[in-house]
Amino acid sequence: MEIVQYGDPVLRAKGKRIEVITDEIRQLADAMIETMRKAEGVGLAAQQVGKALQLAVVDASVAEDRPSRMFIDGKEVDIKEWSPMVLVNPELEYGPEKATDTEGCLSFPRVLAEITRPSTVKVKTQLIDGRFVEFEAHGLLARAVQHEVDHLNGILFIDRMSSAAKASLAGKLKRLQKAQKGR
Ligand code: ZN
Repeated sequence: MEIVQYGDPVLRAKGKRIEVITDEIRQLADAMIETMRKAEGVGLAAQQVGKALQLAVVDASVAEDRPSRMFIDGKEVDIKEWSPMVLVNPELEYGPEKATDTEGCLSFPRVLAEITRPSTVKVKTQLIDGRFVEFEAHGLLARAVQHEVDHLNGILFIDRMSSAAKASLAGKLKRLQKAQKGR
């Protein structure tokens, strides 16, 4: 699938809740996983393939230099066994501590920025097979899930940057927006 670039209004749309996981949704999730892998990303939201739905895919296990931890019922689980993960209608509860790290976004080619976010997050979500799961994420997984759930609500990582960082990227962002309009 083609990845929607910054400037396309769908990136600002709030995703519609998924009431029933149909074959169409399952196929979309599969296509999104493939697209994320091809682009070497750790996450992709439905808005990024042009669909405003509460659906995202995440695979933080591929970034071995940026570790993740995942806990279910207080017990640590192997993130590899849970990846790639499809999040359907996910809800977050943010942890108290913050962390700053470099973030990029497949809808913003060649833009990287330091973003401060809660370092842990509790995630309540449905999986693509219909199961409901609650887990706690640390490290890159926590960051990736927050970035993707932001997308589902029409929020972009540039909204989370310091105003100084955003100002220094202003020219680049304008060029991306212009390129998008010219498509
Ligand atoms: Zn993104």
